Amino acid sequence: MRYKVEHNNYDYPDKDGFFGEFGGAYVDEKFKPVLDNLTKQFDKAWKSDTFFVDWYNLLKEYSGRPTPLYFAKKLTQHYKGGKIYLKREDLNHTGAHKINNVLGQALLAKKMGAKKLIAETGAGQHGVATATAASLLGMECEIFMGVEDMNRQLTNVERMHLLGAKVNAVNTGTRTLKDACDAAIDYWFNHADDVFYCIGSPIGPHPYPMIVRNFQSIVGAEIKEQILEKESRLPDYVLACVGGGSNAIGAFYAFLENKEVNLIGLEAGGEGLDTKRHSAALTLGKRTILQGTCQYALLDENGEAAESYSISAGIDYPGCGPEHCFLKDIGRAQYYAITDSEAINAFALLTKMEGIIPAIESAHALAYLEKLMPTTVPDDIIVVNISGRGDKDVERLLQYMNWVKKWNKVQLR
Ligand SMILES: *Cc1c(COP(=O)(O)O)cnc(C)c1O
Repeated sequence: MRYKVEHNNYDYPDKDGFFGEFGGAYVDEKFKPVLDNLTKQFDKAWKSDTFFVDWYNLLKEYSGRPTPLYFAKKLTQHYKGGKIYLKREDLNHTGAHKINNVLGQALLAKKMGAKKLIAETGAGQHGVATATAASLLGMECEIFMGVEDMNRQLTNVERMHLLGAKVNAVNTGTRTLKDACDAAIDYWFNHADDVFYCIGSPIGPHPYPMIVRNFQSIVGAEIKEQILEKESRLPDYVLACVGGGSNAIGAFYAFLENKEVNLIGLEAGGEGLDTKRHSAALTLGKRTILQGTCQYALLDENGEAAESYSISAGIDYPGCGPEHCFLKDIGRAQYYAITDSEAINAFALLTKMEGIIPAIESAHALAYLEKLMPTTVPDDIIVVNISGRGDKDVERLLQYMNWVKKWNKVQLR
């Protein structure tokens, strides 16, 4: 399969890694050569047919691509509006879209002669995907994870251990994802000769946002091909949840020049935008430089990255990838916040109605159907990207539902 997305007029990032005024590479001068080399090696690999075929064969034979585009008949009947299709990224090996990008970066690492993959992880999903790729390709693997997150995600820590990875407990700052990122970057810059830093979302300095987007763009390219086959036309809406933004940019990218396709990203509204307990960086963030790139991020009184919150660890991040910031500013994509309780209702609805337990991250995209569907007509086509499966969330959800029952705050279906 030759799916590379071609654009006529959309040509971002520019050579310095900018999407309009977002992006770039704000790092210490001495790290520039490492990033420049990575850009060069990635460009070469991306243009090479053999690299592409090696990578695509792994996606196909190992991860199970292409994932289905499933017509959700009962969900469609429930809303009595347009036709709802689900892109089943939850059916990938390791349970989410992350493997698309990780396999690409791991292959690139191997080509570049790296012996070891390192990665940061919050909830542990990206750590598990990276450890999986390292095991598959016979590489060493070290994962950086905040101590707080390790305590919350013991099963994923054990999965990484089983896969042969070393998990480094990060004890600085708030001992969560942001601190794990800092620790991983530090380690990378000190061992750049034989270590490859595998980033899971389109964040960080150039070229990472571009690398992650290109590897994830297979999602939207497949959606395009599949919907043309099933409906002989493009969808009216593509919905995806946004944390750092990889599953969303992957789903959107193939459609950027098809202006009739509405692209909608859903971020974590947590306990509400009027509280401080959310991660709605695109809705309420300020333009700033964070972790090597210019982006929208939530800031505290001192102008530092604020602590973010979401029931869903995978989209609990105070910033957002630069390309989404750009797409929001030029109006090509719209972004809205979904609260914890809205996401949980959507989670319960899909589980009961279609027998698919989505990741609580993905449930944020599903939740927007409540607002969107009453405005649609039966001829409309809506695609929701189900970024991952929800097995990992069952325990957390039971806790939450018991809590809700106790306080009777939200009416669950
Ligand atoms: C990690 C994760 C996300 C959030 O990451 P993005 O880069 O925004 O896609 C969303 N859904 C699932 C299932 C994840 O594991």
